[in-house]
Amino acid sequence: TVYSFGGTDASIDPRAKDKTITGGKGANLAEMAEIGLPVPPGFTITTEECVKYLAGGSDFSDQLRADVASALRQVEAAVGKDFGSKDDPLLVSVRSGARVSMPGMMDTVLNLGLNDDTVAGLAATSGDERFAWDSYRRFIQMYSDVVLGVDHGLFEEALEIAKEDKGFYADTEMEAEDWKVLVAQYKNIVEQERGQPFPLDVHEQLWGAIAAVFDSWDADRAKVYRRLNDIPSDWGTAVNVQAMVFGNMGDTSATGVAFTRNPATGEKAYYGEYLINAQGEDVVAGIRTPQYLTRDAREAAGAKPLSMEEAMPDAYAELAQVFDLLERHYRDMQDIEFTVQQGKLWMLQTRSGKRTARAALKMAVEMVGEGLIDEREAVLRIDPMALDQLLHPRLDPDAPRTVLTTGLPASPGAASGKIVLDADTAEQFAARGEKVILVRVETSPEDIHGMHAAQGILTARGGMTSHAAVVARGMGRPCVSGASQVSIEMGARTLRIGTTELREGDLITLDGAKGQVMEGLVATIEPELVGDFGTLMEWADRHRRMRVRTNAETPDDCRMARQFGAEGIGLCRTEHMFFDAGRISAVRQMILAEDEKGRRKALAKLLPEQRDDFRQIFEVMVGLPCTIRLLDPPLHEFLPTADADFADLADVTGLGVDHLKRRAAELHEFNPMLGHRGCRLGITYPEIYEMQARAIFEAACEVAQASGEAPVPEIMVPLVATRRELAILKTLIDRMAQEVFTDKGRSIEYLVGTMIELPRAALMAGEIAQEALFFSFGTNDLTQTTLGVSRDDSARFLAPYVEKGIFARDPFVSLDIEGVGQLVRMASERGRETKPDIKLGICGEHGGDPASIAFCEEVGLDYVSASPYRVPIARLAAAQASL
Ligand code: PEP
Ligand code: MG
Repeated sequence: TVYSFGGTDASIDPRAKDKTITGGKGANLAEMAEIGLPVPPGFTITTEECVKYLAGGSDFSDQLRADVASALRQVEAAVGKDFGSKDDPLLVSVRSGARVSMPGMMDTVLNLGLNDDTVAGLAATSGDERFAWDSYRRFIQMYSDVVLGVDHGLFEEALEIAKEDKGFYADTEMEAEDWKVLVAQYKNIVEQERGQPFPLDVHEQLWGAIAAVFDSWDADRAKVYRRLNDIPSDWGTAVNVQAMVFGNMGDTSATGVAFTRNPATGEKAYYGEYLINAQGEDVVAGIRTPQYLTRDAREAAGAKPLSMEEAMPDAYAELAQVFDLLERHYRDMQDIEFTVQQGKLWMLQTRSGKRTARAALKMAVEMVGEGLIDEREAVLRIDPMALDQLLHPRLDPDAPRTVLTTGLPASPGAASGKIVLDADTAEQFAARGEKVILVRVETSPEDIHGMHAAQGILTARGGMTSHAAVVARGMGRPCVSGASQVSIEMGARTLRIGTTELREGDLITLDGAKGQVMEGLVATIEPELVGDFGTLMEWADRHRRMRVRTNAETPDDCRMARQFGAEGIGLCRTEHMFFDAGRISAVRQMILAEDEKGRRKALAKLLPEQRDDFRQIFEVMVGLPCTIRLLDPPLHEFLPTADADFADLADVTGLGVDHLKRRAAELHEFNPMLGHRGCRLGITYPEIYEMQARAIFEAACEVAQASGEAPVPEIMVPLVATRRELAILKTLIDRMAQEVFTDKGRSIEYLVGTMIELPRAALMAGEIAQEALFFSFGTNDLTQTTLGVSRDDSARFLAPYVEKGIFARDPFVSLDIEGVGQLVRMASERGRETKPDIKLGICGEHGGDPASIAFCEEVGLDYVSASPYRVPIARLAAAQASL
């Protein structure tokens, strides 16, 4: 099927405005024609025809040939010119147009319909022989490049030589006779390269271009783009054939591109470029410098050449009217292509324009003010992930960067600093006021102080939920993880990235949002939480059902999360509280102790510190729910490895180094993630959880006493697989509560619940719910255990898995809804069957991922919990999920 637009018959078939049928470009051309804008007459061959053509062995049906012929006749009638006519030829442009704009596909052929005969007609009717022959040579070059696959460099070269022979500098010096000579040369090039002459039959040209557009849907580049962007391969592309208008017919002609508002800042001011006496590709190709659209922009830039507003006031005034009309019609900022042919304005394209996060916020808020859209729509329009750009210092997009390697974008933001290879050095440098980037093979709890001291973290190993990634996101430190090209030479204190050798102290820059590692300093811009941000978040909050909490374990992180709008703590990882340099030794003593007595001794040192931690957190989070998870330390993260650590430990414990090493070796696990961690520790060494429960209750009582407002701790047991585990530990927690309450002479409300992070727990959720007042889905471990994929070792093969389409996205970043999601859904249902008002939340990294959040809304979770910097993203995503 073929749909016409812009002809003498102004009526438009509704199907012609449907992007799924006529593609984005075609649908918008039809729509612009319908609302009376000046659109050159043309027609669109549907995406359905593309699918048929590709399925049917690259053959055009007779029906399609007839439809195109008839649509072409309509264009001829509307323009009053004939395709292929010697006297007054119709020329057309042929452009692809899929449902969504898609780089990698055939773009545009202009001036189609020129040959040795029609060029004379064009010369006669335009009264400009030079223009006609220039158009002809442009056509041969473009058609040969995009349709016939002849390297366009060959044509450029021929043109350069021709100019050199003549002593010309600019193309504009070429005369009609010069172009004629060049056309002959161009034809020779094609014949040499293709073994066939350039097609002079105009219908052969047209069908060749149509076939090229269809075929480009299956080009490798297009396939790659589709895979990366989740675009189905059965959509196909439409083809738009449109009467040519010329921006290169002298000084009353021009061509340009424009945005109806500033796409970088969102400011309500026309924004764009134009070129007098030029054709579309001249603006894009950057051969001539385009001029400003408006006088204001020109003056602000201090530029001399006249703006379009000044040089072509009438056409500009009409264009400005069109901008307003299009914005009112589409209710969004538009990205437009236009041409002025001898004073007359023509619209060639419109679409919703791409924009920065800052611009998106400003436009959305202002458009609500202008009555163009309502709050709901404003909330729906912002890409939650784009907010990230606003929450961290970011690299100046205009600053040059030399990318050394790319790893995983583990924690967004930009950081520059001197390379340091261990945590102590990081701290020393930082103490001297120097900015550092901590570079490690991977990080462990011992590196925490160094991570804190550093501006950013780079690791050679580890995935998106590796220690480095989780901790960095929590701290708001930019992090690039799993940069496998990085190899560290500890002895020499050097670092090799690909072929670049760097030493400790050299400057590097990280772009955590892109996963890029750059040499030297790249300038950054500070984040600005401008007013529009606050306004939009307020609207989002009004429309969301789920609560948004945060994953945080320090008072600073809690404070930051509250500023970002967190409504409580969804996960306080208590093992992270032990990462502090001063404490890790007590934790190690506890782990390495031979017996309960030894453990109790170490725990006694930790109790007051834990109590103090909890008190501070309760104070910051006053009035809000706080989920505190009991210790869940994969042992490998805590066991000492360095000789110096053993020596330290020997000092404080009075035990021999050899003894400690033997003990550490005994505790070594082959598979620590599946080892003696989580509640298994609490079951075997109850004194550990007793100490923690006591610290929580004592801190809560103290805060209640001091402030009059009692916090409501939600005590969470990790890695539960069976009801019995939880029952035993719940009894322990309740007992500690009674002991403390008796001691303090007051009692406070608290909840005991569990993480659902093992498949068995999800399956048995109905039973486990008997013991739990809440479930929190630990989707990091649930993903790891359901997929049988190690969260710390998966970086190496997950990227190729995503590239091959085995997973649409990294399942540690975006929940595997089909698989792991089933377990979440089932556990929610079974939990609610047992206990209808059981509180349900998620605290895995997925709690900050918009697609996963949408799924949480569908399942009906009560809240999501995300690291502090993800809280605004989660608030917006949760709102969108409710709308
Ligand atoms: C989880 O497993 O999803 C979780 C939140 O716990 P952690 O990442 O600490 O194992
Ligand atoms: Mg877990």
